[in-house]
Amino acid sequence: MPLRATLLPLLLPAVVVATLVALLDGPKEVVAAALVALAGSLMSLGVSRGTLQRQLDLLARHTRDRAEGGPPTSAPVVPERLDEVAGLEGAIDSLHAQLSARNTVLNQDARTLTAVLDGMAEGIWVTDEEGTVVRHNDALRAMLDSTSNPLTGQRPLALIRNEALHDAVMRACREGASSHLELTLDGLFPRTLSIRVTPLAKDLPGSAAVFHDVTELRRLEKVRKDFVANVSHELRTPITAVRGYAETLQGGALNDPVMAPKMVEIIHRQSERLSELVEDLLELSRLESREVSLKLAHVTLADAAARAADTVRPKAESKGQVVSLHVPQGLLAVGDARAVEQVLLNLLDNAVKYTPAGGQVEVYGACEQGRCVVRVKDTGVGIEPKHLSRIFERFYRVDKGRSRDMGGTGLGLSIVKHLLQAMDGEVKVESQPNEGSTFTIFLPLAASSSAATG
Ligand code: ADP
Repeated sequence: MPLRATLLPLLLPAVVVATLVALLDGPKEVVAAALVALAGSLMSLGVSRGTLQRQLDLLARHTRDRAEGGPPTSAPVVPERLDEVAGLEGAIDSLHAQLSARNTVLNQDARTLTAVLDGMAEGIWVTDEEGTVVRHNDALRAMLDSTSNPLTGQRPLALIRNEALHDAVMRACREGASSHLELTLDGLFPRTLSIRVTPLAKDLPGSAAVFHDVTELRRLEKVRKDFVANVSHELRTPITAVRGYAETLQGGALNDPVMAPKMVEIIHRQSERLSELVEDLLELSRLESREVSLKLAHVTLADAAARAADTVRPKAESKGQVVSLHVPQGLLAVGDARAVEQVLLNLLDNAVKYTPAGGQVEVYGACEQGRCVVRVKDTGVGIEPKHLSRIFERFYRVDKGRSRDMGGTGLGLSIVKHLLQAMDGEVKVESQPNEGSTFTIFLPLAASSSAATG
């Protein structure tokens, strides 16, 4: 019902009567009646105002409840709703519906952004115009090893003690300048981070920083550089010797009946060393790039050990060493026959090489905990504990001079490790300086192996 329509019928009679009385200057009763009618009209007006007030109050309370996010309620039921109030309520309803829809979109956007940020491998923080962190993702927390302390509300310097990063953030906030820097965080696991700091936007003060963990990348770069340096060094030594002796021969020593054969012998030895080095390098590179396709089959370990021992025996005997084998004939491994023999040959060659004259080299085979185990044990010079974890690295040698003098390339154990990995096996070492070493290899046991389980 429209408000105007409610008020007009109430006021109209009183106004008409009052006007007539005033015009006709009528009797007192009539004047009194007119006044009573007027008073009645005024009272009705008061009642209507009260109704309007109540409906508006109800509407206000209902609107407030919705704004405060209370449980959705339907509009209060009012018997004689005024049209203006109903119109106002309709407008509020439509505003509320629009706001709710926009809110839903904003909520979805915010959740999508959080999911994207937390799914990223890169760490991210966002700062306000003062450089205080106001937002970050999970990856950043992991990079900073900060599982408990809150990152938001902190200044860059409090999170990463690095002046250059702090300056970069302040430059982005104040001057809108972007910068890139790389820094290494010390700690239990040092990390190298590549960081890009940018201002947010012209009309959005603050900055954002994206952190890439490049630790592994830099490590691989170093490994590659070291490898190239090592290979160059290893190649240079025999090449220099070959060239030097060849030049001396050309310079006249060729006619020296005593020196010439010695020099040719050295040239031959060095060229053999070169070819061994190149062979080992090629083998390693094939293994690392997984180009080698191993033919897995049942390998009789006793036979593989016997063949490897036959190869090293002349050298061992020339040093007065005894090589003895204790590998049960029925012990069968799953592996590539050539690769298993190569592994045992490298281990036996080292055992003979690093064991002084008169020492012992023994090979034991067994089946332990469902795996084939072969131990190559020597009574040689042994290895200090600090070197044990590194001897399987390419070109790592405990004693460079001794290894080279003995014709070692520094790649033998690295090849052993890679070959075993390719066959689902592994290698371990135990050693005591001056007491000897034991290299133990593990390989999968063939189902048909008849060796007793230890
Ligand atoms: P190399 O060609 O120098 O022998 P390897 O990769 O085979 O290279 O071995 C790496 C290093 O491990 C050797 O230089 C040597 O110092 C040490 N090493 C390997 N086997 C033995 C062993 N049986 N006894 C003592 N030291 C060993």
